[in-house]
Amino acid sequence: MIMAYIDVSMPIHPQMMVYKNKPEKKPIFIQDNKLELGQSCETIITMNVHTGTHMDFPLHMMIGGKTSTDFDPNELIRRVKVLTILNTDKILAEHLMGYDLQAGDFILLKTDNSLSDTFSFSFTYLTKEAAEYAVNKKLAGIGIDALGIERDQPNHPTHSILMAANIFILEGLRLQAVEQGEYEMIALPLSMNGCDGLPMRVMLQEVK
Ligand SMILES: [Zn+2]
Repeated sequence: MIMAYIDVSMPIHPQMMVYKNKPEKKPIFIQDNKLELGQSCETIITMNVHTGTHMDFPLHMMIGGKTSTDFDPNELIRRVKVLTILNTDKILAEHLMGYDLQAGDFILLKTDNSLSDTFSFSFTYLTKEAAEYAVNKKLAGIGIDALGIERDQPNHPTHSILMAANIFILEGLRLQAVEQGEYEMIALPLSMNGCDGLPMRVMLQEVK
């Protein structure tokens, strides 16, 4: 029997949860429906590329950084490890040390963020020290169930440290239905050039 994939992406719609609940970050859908005139229905969507489940490219935080044009989509069709780290609003290096992480591992962090569908200003994030630990461990990527991988750290060191080491960053995952363990991931952003971030569909299949 083929195991179904679990969709861990956030549906995109005008009322969805956005970073810090900022109105300008809500996607705008304008539907031009001319079906009753015998024509077509087409929707124009205006939205930030960091909406919902998305990946960050280095240009997001680094002058002259790499963009979506430089990204090979084969990179995110791969094995990942989901780590459950609850009851804390900060992921520290110590939390990651509790796992047997190997060079090349791609981890997805399931935190208290996955237990709520509203934006929390005290969302769980990855600290600078944990990012440094990830670099030392030579991780390939980190995904988190928050709309940002860090908060309240001046100059965004978590982003910068991970990006400088070419560690992929996925944000806005929805992991409430996923248990800790190993999964095959299919995570594909649209093929759009020159972007600092891109929304993506992320699917996980448990590895038995
Ligand atoms: Zn982002």
